[in-house]
Amino acid sequence: MGNELSMLWKYQLADMEADRFEREMRGNPSRLKLLKDRDFLLEQQNAVRKIESDLAAMAERVAALTADAAKAEESLRDLQETLEETEPESLDIARKSLDYCQKLMHAIGRMEQELQKIRKDSDIRAKQQHEVRVRAARVKVEFDKLKVVYDNEFKEHSAYLESLRRQVAQTAKDVPAELIDKYKLIKMHRIPPIAILTEDRCGGCNMNLPAVVMRSIRMGAESVECENCGRIVLVKNPNEA
Ligand SMILES: [Zn+2]
Repeated sequence: MGNELSMLWKYQLADMEADRFEREMRGNPSRLKLLKDRDFLLEQQNAVRKIESDLAAMAERVAALTADAAKAEESLRDLQETLEETEPESLDIARKSLDYCQKLMHAIGRMEQELQKIRKDSDIRAKQQHEVRVRAARVKVEFDKLKVVYDNEFKEHSAYLESLRRQVAQTAKDVPAELIDKYKLIKMHRIPPIAILTEDRCGGCNMNLPAVVMRSIRMGAESVECENCGRIVLVKNPNEA
């Protein structure tokens, strides 16, 4: 087989190995776990923020209700004092005053009920907040520990990947630039871009090569282009050469 083609094959081997290793790095279990933990920690942060804003809204409502209830109680006290100290002018006025007293008492009761409910809710939210914080702190400890391990791994792996990429660049030197360009063009759609002839089929897409292409092979062509997938098809298996 022509030297160019066997060099191109070597180039593909190096290139595929570098790509494979890069994929493996992305799929690194520590990395995936860190990404998962990071998402979890962000979620917890958002949950804490939501609880904080809920608690703030509740505190605001408690302040407003407390002020309203105090005002209503004051009115009620005033009214009761007036009723005790002065004789009502008429039965009708007395009845109206009593009605008003009752209304105030109802209103105060309702406000107290709401206050109680808010206090209960805010206790629950505060407890949730605490639980979220504890859970997040635990994951953060794990995350930090794993991060140290992963960062070291990553440094090592990156150095190795770099050496693989250097090998790719080194093998590329033995291949004509236009062949490399063609390889890269095919690689955008087909991986790997170079296939080996298998009987009279393209080893990449498994389609039979047309008779005219097979004829050129019998005439001595060392590589052909697969019309179906666009790969460069090597006639001889370079691994067996
Ligand atoms: Zn093909």
